[in-house]
Amino acid sequence: MTFCPKIQLAHDGPEISKLIQGYWRLADWDMNSQQRLSFIERHVESGVSTVDHAFIYGDPACESLFGEALKLAPQLRREIEIISKCGIVSARPGKVAHYSSSKSDIVASVETSLKRLGTDYLDILLIHRPDFLMDADEVAGAFQALKQAGKVNHFGVSNFDAAQLSLLQSRLDAPLVTNQIELNPVNTQVAESGLLEYLQERRIRPMAWSCLAGGRVFNDTSTAMQRLRNTLQLLVHELSASSIDQVIYAWVMKMPSQPLPIIGSGNVRRMQEAVAALSLPMSREQWYRVLSAARGRDVD
Ligand code: NAP
Repeated sequence: MTFCPKIQLAHDGPEISKLIQGYWRLADWDMNSQQRLSFIERHVESGVSTVDHAFIYGDPACESLFGEALKLAPQLRREIEIISKCGIVSARPGKVAHYSSSKSDIVASVETSLKRLGTDYLDILLIHRPDFLMDADEVAGAFQALKQAGKVNHFGVSNFDAAQLSLLQSRLDAPLVTNQIELNPVNTQVAESGLLEYLQERRIRPMAWSCLAGGRVFNDTSTAMQRLRNTLQLLVHELSASSIDQVIYAWVMKMPSQPLPIIGSGNVRRMQEAVAALSLPMSREQWYRVLSAARGRDVD
């Protein structure tokens, strides 16, 4: 069985697993606490020790469901690295959904996440989405307060473009350790925006969310998706892979900015297949074949 290795993010950054288990969909998995604990144990056994959460995920909150499972085996906390995110405020009666990167909201969000997860610290905190009203000095102040209080060890961003990341970095002493972004063959917009080149230049490894386009790769019946699926299926045979999932993970990891895929499945076998994709070689021609199928045209 392939084992997922650890890598170091950024200079003096945290050690995390090369694949990350995402917990956005945890509330839909219909698991009791014991089943959630077994799932966590299974991915940790495979080397997938890093987990991705966010304040906003789930109703009931996925962080609380995860915390209930962790309570059954508190020693597990030392074996995992927890990422969470802050900054999205849900709509409520009379108020629209909005972003907030104010110092008080960042600190309050982290304190709630810690309570829900039943832990004293987050390994990494990400600003979930770029806030149009972001005051970078204020965010830097929040990060400093959280670090000094021992509540967060490292910081990063999510869905930021190059200018937004560069602005926030300019106010910080420590490097932002990642930018968590959507990366998959269905939506190539981010990959084509120049952001990956910017991250490669600064040696910031992105974390890739929705590698399988949230499952659309499997169930979307459009002509474009059928064309992509046919190409992926041919590559399953060429690469002796066991599934389309594996081909897509290999496609994402082939990119020179060295993205770290976040697994979205709550299925142990699919999680293990993602880990096995770590040893799947993909040629440049095969990589471009997926891109061409996704865009519906070859490169010039
Ligand atoms: P994804 O891997 O693109 O999609 C996961 C979905 O695909 C699940 O519903 C899964 O169902 C289904 N699936 C996987 N393999 C399948 C197969 N072979 N056949 C049919 N369905 C299949 O990932 P995602 O959940 O959208 O995102 C992954 C993680 O990224 C999230 O958990 C979250 O942590 C993070 N994320 C971050 C952001 C951000 O803004 N920073 C945004 C979105 C997500 P099963 O569970 O049944 O396998």
